[in-house]
Amino acid sequence: MASSLTPRSPYPKENLGSARRGMGLKAPPRRNVLSAINNGGVNGSPAPSEGGSEAGAAAPAVEFSGRDDVERLLAEKMKGKSKNDYKGRTEQMSEYIKRLRACIRWYVDLEDGYLAELEKLQGQIDAENTRHTEFEAQLSDAFQELIAANLEMTTRCNSLEESFNKEKADRLVAEESYEKERQERESAEASRDVLMVDLERVTHEAKRFSEQLKMVQDTNKRLQEYNASLQLYNSNLQADTSKNGETISKLQREKSAMMEAMTNLKDLNNSIKNQLDSSMTSQKEAIRVKEELRKEVECLRTDLQQVRDDRDQSVAQVNTLTAELAIYSEQARTSSKDCAVLTSKVSAFEETCNSQQEQIEILQNHLADATEKLKHADVTAIEAMTGYEEQKGTIKDLEERLAYAEFQIIEADKLRKKLHNTILELKGNIRVFCRVRPLLSDGDSKSQEEALISYPSSVENAGRGIELINQGQKCSFSYDKVFSHSASQDDVFVEMSQLVQSALDGYKVCIFAYGQTGSGKTYTMMGKPGREQKGIIPRSLEQIFKTSQSLESQGWKYCMQASMLEIYNETIRDLLAPGRPNSVEMSAGKQYTIKHDAQGNTTVSDLTTADVFSTADVTSLLEKASHSRSVGRTQMNEQSSRSHFVFTLKIFGSNESTGQQVQGVLNLIDLAGSERLAKSGSTGDRLKETQAINKSLSALSDVIFAIAKNDDHVPFRNSKLTYLLQPCLGGDSKTLMFVNIAPEASSVNETVCSLRFASRVNACEIGVARRQTQARSSDSRLSYG
Ligand code: ADP
Ligand code: MG
Repeated sequence: MASSLTPRSPYPKENLGSARRGMGLKAPPRRNVLSAINNGGVNGSPAPSEGGSEAGAAAPAVEFSGRDDVERLLAEKMKGKSKNDYKGRTEQMSEYIKRLRACIRWYVDLEDGYLAELEKLQGQIDAENTRHTEFEAQLSDAFQELIAANLEMTTRCNSLEESFNKEKADRLVAEESYEKERQERESAEASRDVLMVDLERVTHEAKRFSEQLKMVQDTNKRLQEYNASLQLYNSNLQADTSKNGETISKLQREKSAMMEAMTNLKDLNNSIKNQLDSSMTSQKEAIRVKEELRKEVECLRTDLQQVRDDRDQSVAQVNTLTAELAIYSEQARTSSKDCAVLTSKVSAFEETCNSQQEQIEILQNHLADATEKLKHADVTAIEAMTGYEEQKGTIKDLEERLAYAEFQIIEADKLRKKLHNTILELKGNIRVFCRVRPLLSDGDSKSQEEALISYPSSVENAGRGIELINQGQKCSFSYDKVFSHSASQDDVFVEMSQLVQSALDGYKVCIFAYGQTGSGKTYTMMGKPGREQKGIIPRSLEQIFKTSQSLESQGWKYCMQASMLEIYNETIRDLLAPGRPNSVEMSAGKQYTIKHDAQGNTTVSDLTTADVFSTADVTSLLEKASHSRSVGRTQMNEQSSRSHFVFTLKIFGSNESTGQQVQGVLNLIDLAGSERLAKSGSTGDRLKETQAINKSLSALSDVIFAIAKNDDHVPFRNSKLTYLLQPCLGGDSKTLMFVNIAPEASSVNETVCSLRFASRVNACEIGVARRQTQARSSDSRLSYG
């Protein structure tokens, strides 16, 4: 800035002071000295400008661009002119002086610039000074702050130092562990090398295995073909089964017709026996009458003989009297008196004779009567005898027919049981039915369901397949039976009523309902009040009572015991316990320990069992149980869907006439909701509940799969439910699982899970081996026909 206003300084700016000192220049007073020089000396010569212009005319213009030029000027020497050439030397001198003057003028200009600059700088210095004091004050403030900050920093530094020390220690530890790790890594690397070798070997093996796999795949393909043929065989078997079912129903019809004929025959037999008895008595009576009559006839005969004798005597007397009369008539002429006497005598005799004749006639009549009667009695006796013989024959015939009919009935019953069992075996001892609940709210969702769930109509899958669209993919499943949303309770029961018959025949039967909450398990098992809506439990009991009554005519007597319990969080609750349901005092001190005896009979200690004789008994028990459950629900947070409900009916049957005994069990189970943990997002008690449910449901599936695989160890003891049902799962007991599903799109994930689980259950019973290796030894039935 200064240089632009002033002539260019020969010194760098910072050396300004020293330059000035070097030239002997000082503050303003020196200016007069310089101006004196400028003015051509101390003699007061004109001002430099005038001198300049004066000299400028002769001297060449001198330009100074810096200190060097000045130095050069000062160092210039006079040369070239001889000592005597004064003129030349003077000219030279004056020239030099001119140049010196110009130099001095340049310096004066320069100084002026410098002075102005100096003033300005002084001003700047003052301003800087004030700014400096201000800044100093600010700095001292800042310094104070910094001291405070420093203190803080020191404390922080201390703490950091501490933590640093700690870190250091940690680092040492880390270094140690790093060292250790390094060693381990080294060893790992060593083992990796070994593993690499192994890997190579394994790769080699893998290659071999893949070859084997190819082979296995081939085998698999062949097996699949075989499977297809098996399926064909299976469908044939099922056709046979249905044929067998028809045969059974025909047999049953024949049996009932036979039963009717037999009762008719029995009635006829009884009436004939009655007739026979009455004819026996009448025959005895007739014999007695005949005997009497014979005696009478004997009497009459002797009487007749006597009368005949009397008559003969009388005739002889008459003859003698007639002879006498002839004599006397001779004499009469002589004596008419005597004649009259004799005549009266004769007439008297004649009268006697006549009366005797009458008596004879009467007796003869009597005799004829008696003979007639005797003859008649003989005829009736003979008739009675022949009738008796005939009836004896008929009775024998009837008895034979009756025995044959009875034999046929027993045979038919045996055949029915065998066929029934064969049918169930063909269908598999673990069977799976799927039931789709209708949509609960009507509206647009209807079409959604139709889009989501469909039922294949192909011949082999009709009524047995279900298809579901999940995330745009179609999944197909097939079971023993699929009930669409339109299936009624009756449709469902018809399909499983044979299993109920099995319980009466002495089998152990388990029927489960599996599915997420709200999918219709309780509706399927219990149903709702009213004829149409009744579920499996009430319908089964009705069938059992009806059939057991109809079997009474064959000599069967049944007695039944019902119990109902609930398993909640792995604890048993008695739903029929007397007293206030779920109260603490009710369950106090009750253990509910499950025990199985050698025959496979299960008892639960302290559990209430009720003898039932009619459907009405069971209905009231069910009401009581559902009341216990509903009370539990309000107290225990929707517990019904969080617990397993188990209805057990024990059936004891005996036949006095044949000495047979059977003992069957029917278990009907409404399982807890199968929804998974994540969906309900549970915590606390709810979490515990859900875990208990998950545990017991997976224990149930483990047990089913272990049985299906014929495992040596079946983990019955993993949950209360499986332990309770141990004798009723496996062996030749019969199990049916309903998988209930909800049709709503929002439930599709749970639905897929349920269907997959059910498929696995269904798949394991298809194994033919299982049916062939049915262990009869575990049969709990006693002397079963
Ligand atoms: P879950 O016992 O599996 O929780 P519910 O049996 O309580 O399910 O069924 C839920 C609801 O759906 C009930 O209101 C029930 O009446 C109804 N429901 C279930 N299945 C059917 C069906 N097949 N027909 C009509 N209503 C049904
Ligand atoms: Mg329910």
